[in-house]
This record gives sequence, structure tokens and C-alpha cells, in this order.
Amino acid sequence: MIDTLPPLLGLLLAGAFGAIVGSFLNVCIHRLPLGASIVWPSSACPHCKRELSWYENIPVASYLVLRARCRTCKAPISVRYPFVEALTCAMFVGAWWYYGPGPLLASRLVLGCALIVLFAIDLEHHLLPNAITLPGIVVGFAFSLMTEPGWMASLIGLLAGGGVLYLVAVAYYRIRHEEGLGMGDPKMLAMIGAFLGWKLMLLTLLAASLVGSVIGLALVVAGRGSMKYALPFGCFLAVGALLSAAGGQPILDWYMGFF
Ligand SMILES: [Zn+2]
Repeated sequence: MIDTLPPLLGLLLAGAFGAIVGSFLNVCIHRLPLGASIVWPSSACPHCKRELSWYENIPVASYLVLRARCRTCKAPISVRYPFVEALTCAMFVGAWWYYGPGPLLASRLVLGCALIVLFAIDLEHHLLPNAITLPGIVVGFAFSLMTEPGWMASLIGLLAGGGVLYLVAVAYYRIRHEEGLGMGDPKMLAMIGAFLGWKLMLLTLLAASLVGSVIGLALVVAGRGSMKYALPFGCFLAVGALLSAAGGQPILDWYMGFF
């Protein structure tokens, strides 16, 4: 039945569903670092703790209508809320259009949601919660039994992805005697490998390192910070994985064409 939806209606429904999911991702981003439950209690203003009514919970629209302030205490609402909602909405529309309904669509959307949450939490708290990465590894592998990249590529991807960054983290610590890479990063790359397989995992690592180096250098040149603290690596892994999932296969095909 879902295959016979008129194309435009399908995209509209995907977008609406995406915006609602984005609203839930905001709850995860706010509560996971605090160790709070993501299902209870219902949403409240973080400043005055007043519970939000339904019309203050509408993705993007509420933010605009409330003009970025709490209705009672006037505390500013972070632009992260409408941004995450709009981004998730766009991701659902794009993925629906690109993959069409099926297990691959579900797999890529679950990964995308995990990446958005990890990006936002790593950016603000320099933290990649196990509550996302560890179940993510299991779910990614489970999806691989039904769809791309297949269970073998997924298994190699999760072992190699976790292993390579684990070794980098240990080596950095041995040499510099300080933590350069947190233990969350190996688990995050293992999750990405489980969902995308080892080839796109390697492409993710390459893209993340490239984007990270460019932004790190730009910040150093602009005198805005040292190389080391530029930005947490999990953010670059998230961007690298989104790029690889969306456009990595043609790059791999082109590259393999040389052999
Ligand atoms: Zn308030």
C-alpha cells in the first residue's frame, strides 16, 4: 500500500514524520548528557520548568510563533531546536526520494538520526553517549542481515572501524600522555561500519579526517584556537558518514574502476 502513494503525498508524509522525529531527537540531545529519561516526563522549559502545551511543541512553527522565547519566563530557546527539526525533516524527504520505501531506507534513516544526535551532543559536551553508539552497533548489524551492505561487510566494518580508532586512541595516549581521542569515537566508527560496511566506513574516516584538518587549519590560521581543541572528532565522523551514505557509492565505483 505504501508503494502506491502518489509521489508528492509520500514526500509530504515523509517530511511531516521527519519533523516529528526531529522533535524527539531534540529531547534525546537535551536529556541524554544529563542522564535523564527520554520518555518521561513530558517536555518542559529548561529554565522555568513549566510543562509545554501541545501548541508549543510543534516542530519549527512553535519556535517561530514564540519568537525564540519561552511564553512565560521569556528565556531564549536555542536555535538548535528548529535547526534539528528542519534538518531531520529534510533528511527524511531526501532519503524517501533517494531510496524509496524498504529496509535500506529504514537503515539509513536510523543511522542518520543517530548521527544527528551524536553530532549535537559531541559539539556541546564533547561526549558520545554509549546509549546511542552501543545499541547502534547491534541495530546496524541487524539491518545488514536484510539489506546493504550485507552481514559480512557490516561485521568487517564494525570490527575494523572500532579497532582502527581504538589503536589510534591508545597510541596517542602512549606517545603524548594525554587523551586526544575519546573512547566514544571508536564505538561511533564501529556503529558507522556496522550500518555502512567497511568500504563506506573507510571513506567516512577519510572524509572526516580531511574536513577536520581543513577546519582545524582554518581555525589556527584565523587565530581562533589551537589545532587540538578545534572541534570534537565525533562531529566530523557524523558529517563524513552522512556524506558517504549519501554519495559514497558512486565514488567507490569510480575508484574501483581503476583496477
Ligand atoms: Zn520558561
